[in-house]
Amino acid sequence: MLKDKVALVTGASRGIGAEVAKTLAGHGAFVYVNYNGSKSRADEVVDEIVKAGGAAEAIQCDVADFDSCKEMIDKIIADKGRLDILVNNAGITRDDLLMKMSEEAFDAVISTNLKGCFNTIRHASRYLLKQRSGKIINMSSVSGVMGNAGQANYSAAKAGVVGLTKSVAKELSSRGINCNAIAPGFIETEMTAAMTDKAKEATIAMIPLGRTGKVSDIAGAVLFLASDMSDYITGQVLSVDGGMCI
Ligand code: NAP
Repeated sequence: MLKDKVALVTGASRGIGAEVAKTLAGHGAFVYVNYNGSKSRADEVVDEIVKAGGAAEAIQCDVADFDSCKEMIDKIIADKGRLDILVNNAGITRDDLLMKMSEEAFDAVISTNLKGCFNTIRHASRYLLKQRSGKIINMSSVSGVMGNAGQANYSAAKAGVVGLTKSVAKELSSRGINCNAIAPGFIETEMTAAMTDKAKEATIAMIPLGRTGKVSDIAGAVLFLASDMSDYITGQVLSVDGGMCI
């Protein structure tokens, strides 16, 4: 399905990003597995892809850093001559109640989760425009759609991702570039592992499908938006949340 396509997945050393990388590679794409600090885990993801018969390479970059993102995109173009799929998945949480949230916690989450998407899109877009093709998929969140107590920074960043997605779609769609967002609900990863059982039960009670999400639930949605099956879809936010946002 993605034969000869080149993909970059940010934050792919674990969790949702790792599963997205494996899924895209499993469908034929060459996948750049981006990480910031977790080199050995990114290498493990690459090993797994290669053992399964796919092709991938780990690539370090802090997505919050504008110039580093330029270096990462330039290296991909220098090596492969193209970039077809950009999945902006890297994300962090620094949860706190608004009254206690530090300026640093607010800025850190905005820098990684929102500006990180801008940085990669900004640098990739000049190549995508020349190619006259490309699929950009940004990871938003149910928190960006509904808000969430204790996540003012995270919800603001994820709502910002929705606005960014729609603006990019309006600017680039006439040149054959699709830009969409996915808004996951509660997905079982290390990011959500710290939640207490009580908080998890309360969250599951809000999910019509009655269960938490798996990383494969999100990877399937990314695969759809990365493939030509979604060529007529742009500027949309696809909720993958078991119905939480209904
Ligand atoms: P995770 O398990 O904590 O993994 C986060 C990934 O992002 C790691 O690979 C991490 O790599 C990378 N990362 C963090 N900061 C980075 C930076 N500055 N530059 C490059 N990479 C960076 O998170 P997850 O649960 O898989 O979440 C993935 C995405 O889905 C995030 O955007 C998250 O907000 C979103 N999401 C998750 C859920 C959920 O329930 N899990 C729900 C809604 C949305 P390093 O360790 O190398 O930094």
